[in-house]
Amino acid sequence: MKTLGHWIGGKSAESVSGSFGPVYNPATGAQPTRVSLASVEEVDAAVAAAKEAYPEWSRSSLARRTAFLFKYRELLDARRDDVAALITAEHGKVHSDALGEVARGMEIVELACGIPEKLKGELSTQVSTRVDVSSIRQAVGVVAGITPFNFPAMVPMWMFPLAIACGNTFVLKPSEKDPSAAYLLAEIASEAGLPDGVLNVVNGDKVAVDRLLTHPDVAAVSFVGSTPIARHIQAEATANGKRVQALGGAKNHMMVLPDADLDHAADNAINAAYGSAGERCMAVSVVVAVGDTGDALVGKIAERAARLRIGPGDDPASEMGPLITREHRDKVASYVSGAAAQGAEVVVDGTGFTVEGSSEYKDGFFTGVSLLDKVEPGMDAYDDEIFGPVLCVVRAETYDEAITLINGSKWGNGAAVFTRDGGAARRFQLEVEAGMVGVNVPIPVPVGYHSFGGWKQSLFGDLHIYGNDGVQFYTRGKVITTRWPDPADTAGINLGFPSN
Ligand code: NAD
Repeated sequence: MKTLGHWIGGKSAESVSGSFGPVYNPATGAQPTRVSLASVEEVDAAVAAAKEAYPEWSRSSLARRTAFLFKYRELLDARRDDVAALITAEHGKVHSDALGEVARGMEIVELACGIPEKLKGELSTQVSTRVDVSSIRQAVGVVAGITPFNFPAMVPMWMFPLAIACGNTFVLKPSEKDPSAAYLLAEIASEAGLPDGVLNVVNGDKVAVDRLLTHPDVAAVSFVGSTPIARHIQAEATANGKRVQALGGAKNHMMVLPDADLDHAADNAINAAYGSAGERCMAVSVVVAVGDTGDALVGKIAERAARLRIGPGDDPASEMGPLITREHRDKVASYVSGAAAQGAEVVVDGTGFTVEGSSEYKDGFFTGVSLLDKVEPGMDAYDDEIFGPVLCVVRAETYDEAITLINGSKWGNGAAVFTRDGGAARRFQLEVEAGMVGVNVPIPVPVGYHSFGGWKQSLFGDLHIYGNDGVQFYTRGKVITTRWPDPADTAGINLGFPSN
């Protein structure tokens, strides 16, 4: 069995705690790897390495930082397949989807290559006689990133490339369920010439996270994960004087209006609900069928669901892989089995699925896809984030009824509308309470140069992640007021408050 340690100060660091967690191959159920779970002392060593690297890195020229980032992009590009293969091996998603994840993460490396433009600052000359004022932004210090299992490479890349481009040093705590991709990202950063200690990876669980939240040398925390943990992160880190952005869970709705192309809507619902086995924070988990669209739409989704090919992620024929763990698979199944008793109609029941033709996958964490119709608020399948391939359909008579339902959700990550009516789409984009909106786009994950973030219980903190918000989060402002007196001036004494 392989043992994965930490990456501290530019080299691998073996476990000191002697505590390990299992890393499974979800397609086979085997456990090929164990991951070190850091003690407080191991976290402290990673933070100390980042702290030591900070003075030189934060003062390094923009040219030096961007030279690294361009080289990093080049090496990542050459090793996309290696990163994607690790994602598939530990997360389970199909290889093409894993490659998409790497590409979306690399967008932020590309954004970071342009950091000089973002850090240009502002200057006002002659605000008063011979007085100039400039605003600059500087790094905050050691930044910690805590990331979820569902995007083991992309979400870390939402954070550290921009943070280090801004002059910070970084300690990443990846998900202990699939940690190898993040470790490889750090190794490649060293190969690209990143000085030791600028990017560190410490593996672990709650012990490691809680130490990062209280460590006096950590200045800022970026978190992505479930809502209860996001809330905990924000409360603890702010109580310890850190700036925090904590992105939480979701339940994303897709409204289908009566004038929509229902085949197009059904295709998109399938892709967005079942891609990556529904383990995406921007997955569509609720379709709101408005007016008389319900029966036809449910029929079209069910017909497509039956054709999906489910199997191991490294088989190019597979369109959907397994779930992350056996426990999670069983929990997802419990929502489907409980739905009928609560009044929903189980149109497609994917529980109990097994991969045909090979005994290799009999212990894998597979499930088929499920479709629940006539779901309503108050049912567990609606109220909870299931995070699996279970699509709920809610029926609504009118647009007003549908938007009221969506805005009643405690989450507000993404929302989409499918329609050919520009006026209705415009109303939706203004009225819906969500941070990311799609118009005929089911998974509106913003490109790297816009920022990603939800509303309500999908984000704790105020700045979204990456894009301009990311630069704001990873820097702090400084305003400099300067006077260079004319040699002919005399200063004189004036105790009044400075004014123009
Ligand atoms: P999670 O909250 O269980 O874990 C996220 C991180 O927090 C991991 O690194 C984990 O080790 C750590 N953690 C877990 N329990 C902890 C505890 N009690 N104390 C301190 N740290 C703890 O999330 P997950 O299951 O890995 O990921 C899935 C969740 O992430 C879903 O809810 C999904 O919606 C959400 N997510 C949100 C976004 C977004 O951008 N809003 C993106 C991806 C995933």
